[in-house]
Amino acid sequence: MAPDGSGGLLGNDAQRQAIEEIKAVLGPKGWSQEPDTLAPLLVDTRGYYHGACALLARPDSTEETAAVVRLCNRAGLPVVPQGGNTSRVGSATPDESGAQVLLSMARMNRVRGIDPANYTMTVEAGCVLKDVQDRAAAQDRLFPLSLGAEGSCMIGGNIASNAGGINVLRYGNTRDLVLGLEVVLPTGEIWNGLRQLRKDNTGYDLKQLYIGSEGTLGVITAAVLKLFPLPKERATALCAIRDLDACIELLARAREASGDALSSFELLAGITLDFAYKHIDTAKPALDSDYDWTVLMEFSGLEPGHAMQNALESMLEGAFEDGVVVDAVIAQSEQQRADLWFLREAIVEAQAYEGASIKHDVSVPVSKVPEFIRRSNEALTNHMRGIRPYPFGHVGDGNIHYNITQPVGAEPADFMARAEEIHDIVHGITHDLNGSISAEHGIGQLKRDELKRYKSDLELDLMRALKSTLDPKGLMNPGKVLDT
Ligand SMILES: Cc1cc2nc3c(=O)[nH]c(=O)nc-3n(C[C@H](O)[C@H](O)[C@H](O)COP(=O)(O)OP(=O)(O)OC[C@H]3O[C@@H](n4cnc5c(N)ncnc54)[C@H](O)[C@@H]3O)c2cc1C
Repeated sequence: MAPDGSGGLLGNDAQRQAIEEIKAVLGPKGWSQEPDTLAPLLVDTRGYYHGACALLARPDSTEETAAVVRLCNRAGLPVVPQGGNTSRVGSATPDESGAQVLLSMARMNRVRGIDPANYTMTVEAGCVLKDVQDRAAAQDRLFPLSLGAEGSCMIGGNIASNAGGINVLRYGNTRDLVLGLEVVLPTGEIWNGLRQLRKDNTGYDLKQLYIGSEGTLGVITAAVLKLFPLPKERATALCAIRDLDACIELLARAREASGDALSSFELLAGITLDFAYKHIDTAKPALDSDYDWTVLMEFSGLEPGHAMQNALESMLEGAFEDGVVVDAVIAQSEQQRADLWFLREAIVEAQAYEGASIKHDVSVPVSKVPEFIRRSNEALTNHMRGIRPYPFGHVGDGNIHYNITQPVGAEPADFMARAEEIHDIVHGITHDLNGSISAEHGIGQLKRDELKRYKSDLELDLMRALKSTLDPKGLMNPGKVLDT
């Protein structure tokens, strides 16, 4: 650490001066340069990226956030906003220069208000997603965004990455769940767009620019979120299906039978459950046999009672008679439901016990999911002997986490060294099926170069034009999404 406490890597006096001014604005609780405090915030969840920073700023209010950003703007200091740091694409990790300011939103964690009659709540960016769900539930309302990292990710991060998760089928992704935003612009100006309106056609919908912008256009400090009636009944089943095509057939049956109250529809390849049962002690087999393909689905009803359970049972009976489903278990208690959902979480952890893995977060039109998986499996197994495709995910949205586990006995580093070849194959097939190379995790630094291969020049030019208009100095989360 340099005597001025700046980390010693700042380019000029104005930047060193700005760091001192930020410390003064935030007070002792509002910043840190302690290596132990910084360490977990400077590496991404997958351990791919290790960064450094000149200062960790932890503002407590919109005004403090604006002051930090204004000072950074004046001195030409890059700013990297961070929520729960659960990004899967390295989007919240600063670069290695040590010259960027890491802006944590963790202290901005107040619920500013809930309006049950308007079905909205206004929250600050640093609220943890699980707390947002719980606060809504306490008012008999549902905030439906739900994902594996919900105990640590923050709503500002969810909005900035347009998170998806397990309820998109019924409620949409984060983009569909936000009515208004408060944003600190790269200049430090505050845009108060905290509207609580479901209809507002007054020109361009500016909030949508910031949703999914991964911190590259401004800092989200608060949001108005859409709430829904809290489901009173949930019916959950794990079903083994005839083959991959049966998955699409079953999806249509489930949507119809539930009156489109199907909230989740997750595909799990047989290998994913095998790994979960093998490596996670608390993951217990839910079906009597092993199957190549299973689906975890949930109907959510607004009335207390058994209407959803009955609808699920009779839909599965019909699917069984027609050979679409070959085995199924329906949760008979809240505990059984939790056990089924635990399997969905366990498969993610279980994969790590089998060595290195190369991951993809792709989407294709729902009807093309079987073709995508079949073509990718075939192309990859022809390309590399012993490779183990590990597909699972939010198939009701056409979103497949198409992960690949290394061959048994291969050197993890040798396998990972071939990641580019494997991405080429999987993303090539995705593109061929008019799909997306990032369904829900975003671009960050991980897929920045890949984006250039699959977006048209025109789209990239439009994105660059927006970036340079809103952030002309290029100081907001540089190097993420776009290279400038
Ligand atoms: C176990 C696990 C499961 C996951 N499951 C899913 C899933 O099912 N669906 C899904 O979509 N994602 C999933 N993710 C990844 C997902 O994107 C994040 O979990 C979450 O949305 C990011 O929130 P965060 O607060 O951690 O943001 P961070 O990781 O801190 O930041 C993410 C991005 O947002 C920016 N950012 C953060 N806060 C702000 C702000 N206030 N203003 C402006 N920019 C900001 C950052 O600069 C960065 O670019 C998962 C991650 C993990 C670890």
